Amino acid sequence: MTAHPGGAPTHPALPMRARAVVDLAALRDNIRALRARAPRAELMAVVKSDAYGHGAVPCARAARAAGASWLGTATPEEALALRAAGDTGRLLCWLFTPGGPWREAIEADIDVSVSGMWAMREVTTAAREAAAREARTHDQDRVQDRGQYRDRGQGRGRTARVQLKIDSGLGRNGCPPGDWLELVHAARAAEAEGVLKVTGIWSHFACADEPGHPSIAAQLEVYRDAVAVAERVGLRPEVRHIANSPATLTLPESHFDLVRTGVAIYGVSPVPDVGSASDFGLRQVMTLSADIALVKRVPAGHGVSYGHQYLTPGETTLALIPVGYADGIPRHASGAGPVLVGGKWRTVAGRVAMDQFVVDLGGDSAEVGDEAVLFGPGDRGEPTAEDWARAAGTIAYEIVTRIGSRVPRVYVGEGDDGGTAATGA
Ligand SMILES: *Cc1c(COP(=O)(O)O)cnc(C)c1O
Repeated sequence: MTAHPGGAPTHPALPMRARAVVDLAALRDNIRALRARAPRAELMAVVKSDAYGHGAVPCARAARAAGASWLGTATPEEALALRAAGDTGRLLCWLFTPGGPWREAIEADIDVSVSGMWAMREVTTAAREAAAREARTHDQDRVQDRGQYRDRGQGRGRTARVQLKIDSGLGRNGCPPGDWLELVHAARAAEAEGVLKVTGIWSHFACADEPGHPSIAAQLEVYRDAVAVAERVGLRPEVRHIANSPATLTLPESHFDLVRTGVAIYGVSPVPDVGSASDFGLRQVMTLSADIALVKRVPAGHGVSYGHQYLTPGETTLALIPVGYADGIPRHASGAGPVLVGGKWRTVAGRVAMDQFVVDLGGDSAEVGDEAVLFGPGDRGEPTAEDWARAAGTIAYEIVTRIGSRVPRVYVGEGDDGGTAATGA
């Protein structure tokens, strides 16, 4: 078992106010379950935003161990951090702004996504620079080898790996269909120059979480056309991909060569109206709990927390839960969020504050130090992230992702066999 608050080691002997236990064995099982649902496609584990709040590096390692041949991040900085942590497999990142870092990403063998001509120009320039730098290093090696040519396995120079993204209808990132031909021609010209290779053509759904939504078929058609146009121009992408978690689970015809699964690998259902995590054979990876910091008897009519939104209906016992919106507990769940205390679901009484909130135990009691479970896989009777999403009027993606860096992540199930092993990470 290893713990770290926002990346810094915690002294294992120190008690923890709260913790997010991350079950890496569950994550590996989820990945295997998803691979079984998309048997002909490769699987990309999406580990952006610190692996949806679970911790990018441990989750990336577990994902690789369970057969994720690709990792995906939003930003190049996230991708570079995975390389710095030792990951060497295929890795795509897709959210660039002018300036890159393109060259750094290319030199780290990261596949980079391009959605428009500004990015094509920048990536081509960076790819030329990377190729020139590689050639210079290569020449130095030759000098050091006293003229003995030694192939370093990469050939002379480096070829940038670029994936082109079409906006098939999401209306967010991606190249509009009207600009696509210009983009693929520019990519083909850069390929002919030898500085880059188009490794993928890809897109992203708007409404895959609403099976049968008419936009799904429309997007698939635009996507297929975009691939056909790219192939006519001479591009030969290794991977075509459009499926996120909901499409992976509900739309096999969208799997193509690769599925990009994010929330489902963390054991959260991307389509809660269609099926729960367990309906899809998935198990929630994160369990969030906190130790009760104070228990007290109060009389009837006692106001609780800022604004006195809650008044005790009778004489009762209150328990103080030492996490708040700074830890990612949604303030919108004031008066609504569920917490398991002493085997029963309680509800947040009054407002969630920055660092703490209160639950009313009614006629029951609890001891200071007892564990209050906010959410987990549900098999101890605790609420799930989906229950919190409903209470806060949001989606479970946001509930797990926003858990703050002040909450230490505690890793269990680190061994490949599913057993617990310390890594000292
Ligand atoms: C976040 C993201 C994903 C993963 O989405 P899930 O619904 O969590 O599976 C896939 N592709 C892109 C482009 C994304 O931004």
